[in-house]
Amino acid sequence: MYDYLIVGSGLYGATFAYMARQQGRKCLVIDRREQAGGNVACRRMEGIDVHLYGPHIFHTDNEQVWRLVTSLVTMNRFTLCTIANYRGRLYNLPFNMYTFHQMWGVVTPDEARRKIEAQRGRYAGITPRNLEEQALQMVGSDIYETLIRGYTEKQWGRPCHELPPFIIRRLPLRFTYDNNYFTDRYQGVHEVGYNILI
Ligand SMILES: Cc1cc2nc3c(=O)[nH]c(=O)nc-3n(C[C@H](O)[C@H](O)[C@H](O)COP(=O)(O)OP(=O)(O)OC[C@H]3O[C@@H](n4cnc5c(N)ncnc54)[C@H](O)[C@@H]3O)c2cc1C
Repeated sequence: MYDYLIVGSGLYGATFAYMARQQGRKCLVIDRREQAGGNVACRRMEGIDVHLYGPHIFHTDNEQVWRLVTSLVTMNRFTLCTIANYRGRLYNLPFNMYTFHQMWGVVTPDEARRKIEAQRGRYAGITPRNLEEQALQMVGSDIYETLIRGYTEKQWGRPCHELPPFIIRRLPLRFTYDNNYFTDRYQGVHEVGYNILI
């Protein structure tokens, strides 16, 4: 007899089962996929832990969550810093002072703001009708053409002027020198792979 039937063995189901068991409850975890772990499931290939459903970096602002995870597995010091390659030139993401320096050679936040302001031009006061207008309004033409247009059209399979503006509204712009993709206090990847944690 079980106290709980947990459908899904991802981070949520596994955490629930772990904590319920600590309270003396008996759990049965089932999953329709072949392996446990949900989105964070890994498979060891050629000596590498391949994240089967896309790369996962564990990040949280919650100290209790971090303490729980690090009581079970050792985390490495990985910090996600992404780089875009546009025609052989490298740009840091998310957009921050390093990106603006790479794009225009500017050094201070004021210089970067002035560059963006000058490029926003006629889009500054309008209500954007599509993603292209939204992006031009937010970051101007250089960043849009170099770092947004091609990537977005490839991902969505449609031209930017046919996509809705809200997709890009959460695009962060940082006027500091900070390449860290996340803003959480804690982040890393398990040294032994997520399967052990699950
Ligand atoms: C490409 C990608 C990259 C990501 N990168 C990150 C990252 O870097 N950092 C981060 O914090 N988050 C990331 N996420 C989000 C993260 O994957 C999820 O927030 C997290 O894994 C969700 O865990 P979960 O247990 O809620 O769900 P899931 O991991 O989706 O697990 C749900 C499980 O339930 C099973 N299931 C569902 N319905 C049924 C059913 N009817 N019967 C049986 N089984 C069922 C599924 O097979 C699955 O195994 C990423 C997501 C994706 C897709």
